[in-house]
Amino acid sequence: MRLCIFDDNRLGLVQGELVHDVSAVLDALPAGRYPLPRHDLLVAALPKLRAPILALVDGMPGVPVASVRLRPPVANPGKIVAAPVNYRKHLEEAEADPATFHAAHVRKIEETGLFLKATSSLAGASDTLRLVQPERRTDHEVELAAIIGTPCKNATRETAMSHVAAYAIGLDITIRGPEERSMRKSPDGYTVLGPWMVTADEIADPAALDLSLDVNGEARQRANTRDLLLDIPELIVFASRFYTLEPGDIILTGTPEGVGPIRPGDVMQAAIGGIGTMTVQVG
Ligand code: MN
Repeated sequence: MRLCIFDDNRLGLVQGELVHDVSAVLDALPAGRYPLPRHDLLVAALPKLRAPILALVDGMPGVPVASVRLRPPVANPGKIVAAPVNYRKHLEEAEADPATFHAAHVRKIEETGLFLKATSSLAGASDTLRLVQPERRTDHEVELAAIIGTPCKNATRETAMSHVAAYAIGLDITIRGPEERSMRKSPDGYTVLGPWMVTADEIADPAALDLSLDVNGEARQRANTRDLLLDIPELIVFASRFYTLEPGDIILTGTPEGVGPIRPGDVMQAAIGGIGTMTVQVG
């Protein structure tokens, strides 16, 4: 299934070029009561919502997905875990340009570890990206995003993938400079997730997906997830040694080579095989 959140937080099932409004199934989610859980209720309930969603959409007319406002497909992730420098050629391009890539941040992922992005940085494909410091170099980073479906602590390589519910395209927008990643990568809107989430059953091999990013029609990033240094199971093993992963948690798997600056007025087009394409405006 391809699921999106659109317009006024409607739940949509995307089929071809159409989106079908299946918000009625959200009535089955538990009512909120303080304290709220730290996980995303929709992602946690996905296995039991699958049949009702498909039953509801049967015979229902859709509207063009191009006509709706796409919000992040996970509304309430508890955390966004991200992998720094997780493709060899990106490590090499960073090492070759110390004026742009601050030396303190260019180390092997096994030494640096993972980092967290603020959940308030999350945006959807239709949200215009507003640069908070347009005078500083701010880069695009296209990344495969894995969305956790079931609680997970101390996962093993053998069990790790069973915890992945879905995948999406992630953009880890980054100000270059000396500050901590958690500051440079977490302004409002600097984590774009979309255009929808594709449930894991539809992605035969997440370790063999082409990913790309263009700016104003110019090719910037071209890579394949087979070149990840730490693959998705290894990232889940690593992350779950430190954090309990919860349904809806987002793992940004790292960006390949070809990162480069974006400026107000630019249009980014990101694509990942098996997921789709999303167009994001820089404001
Ligand atoms: Mn990144």
